[in-house]
Amino acid sequence: MEEKNNKPRVIFAKKTAKDLLKSIGIKNPPILIKDVVDHIRKERDLSVYPWAFGDNTDGIQITQGDCATIAYNQSQHSHRQRFTVAHEIGHLLLGHTSENSVFDLDSKKPEEAEANQFAAELLMPEDMFKKDFKNGIKNAQDLSRVYNVSEEAVWWRLMECRLIMKMG
Ligand SMILES: [Zn+2]
Repeated sequence: MEEKNNKPRVIFAKKTAKDLLKSIGIKNPPILIKDVVDHIRKERDLSVYPWAFGDNTDGIQITQGDCATIAYNQSQHSHRQRFTVAHEIGHLLLGHTSENSVFDLDSKKPEEAEANQFAAELLMPEDMFKKDFKNGIKNAQDLSRVYNVSEEAVWWRLMECRLIMKMG
């Protein structure tokens, strides 16, 4: 097999998430996974299941022909589950659907960075996030509540959107 060492397509991943939110018509947080899945289902076959994975697997996405299946770890926190499903939807919409590839078992692949970018933009859209931050929701706990994501995800997003600077 050919070894690929491509850079992640960050802009493409973000744009795919932005376009999706726009076509669903979501303008305010929290972004509900159900709304996103229902919208995708209008155009393609997609099933999303909770699954009893072990501790080391967050989720998987398998696409065969027109049928896509996403399973997420049912024993993790709901914040984690939301991020996992968003990440797997990223794999699906970014075209990581080759039947011979299991992306999530090799986190160094550029596809994983792309799916993470997609998930972050989907659940914490940059424009909404910046607006809320500017309007005074500056604490990670409050942002976590408003966006229904983990505080850890909020900290990453704040740094990524340059709303706070890394110390040191
Ligand atoms: Zn992945």
